[in-house]
Amino acid sequence: MPSRPYIVGNWKMNGTRAMLTEARAVGRVAARYPGVAVALAPPFTLIHAMAENVQDIAVGAQDCHVAASGAHTGDVSAPMIWDAGARFTIVGHSERRAKGGLGHGEDDATVRAKAEAALAAELSVIVCVGETEAERDAGKAEKIVASQLAGSLPPLESIGTRLSVAYEPVWAIGTGRVPSVEDVGAMHRAIRERLLEIYGEEGRGVRILYGGSVNAGNAGELLAADEVGGALVGGASLTADSFGAIIYAAQLLLESRRG
Ligand code: PEP
Repeated sequence: MPSRPYIVGNWKMNGTRAMLTEARAVGRVAARYPGVAVALAPPFTLIHAMAENVQDIAVGAQDCHVAASGAHTGDVSAPMIWDAGARFTIVGHSERRAKGGLGHGEDDATVRAKAEAALAAELSVIVCVGETEAERDAGKAEKIVASQLAGSLPPLESIGTRLSVAYEPVWAIGTGRVPSVEDVGAMHRAIRERLLEIYGEEGRGVRILYGGSVNAGNAGELLAADEVGGALVGGASLTADSFGAIIYAAQLLLESRRG
């Protein structure tokens, strides 16, 4: 874990203005632990209110359109997100990549175009990758993730220090199941190697987050795994109690590493 761990909450399609009290409480936890970078990605509808009302955390979006404006009914562009007060966006979440059901069938090229649109609008960006259970069982997890990285990452010229990658095994999202700490470390090391191949030495500065059923009980050991620079948290980010406990776990790890 690098010196300033990044703990990001993804509220998904949850939250109305009543939930801003939780966000404010998260802000109070974040203020106590300035060594931990804390962020929340609420639904689009809450970005402006959260950015106006909550201190000490970054506010972001969960997605953006590839275009800056135009005839795209129901979509929201990166410059609009910035204008609402967001300073980062997630792209390529598995719930958007999912082909069946209520997924959006986004492919790597779309994810890369979204990441480029976000960076062009001055937003930081978190690009999500991760294998399905069948892919892991077939021994293809690293190959799949490598191919997602090759297809989804924006070009070197655009990234500056604003790119993070989130490794989120699809089978661990919202299921209560997590990979072993060894498997998390192995995948994060593999992602670092790919980043170095793609970006050269600049790839060392890209933060790699782990996501998938992170909670207060497992955050400490997951954050301690090799090359893990923080966590992307879904369900456990919805209350300040559970998200605050993850922020605190990051703080404890920082302190133990400082000795
Ligand atoms: C997510 O959706 O990014 C996520 C990691 O969800 P959860 O923590 O609920 O598994």
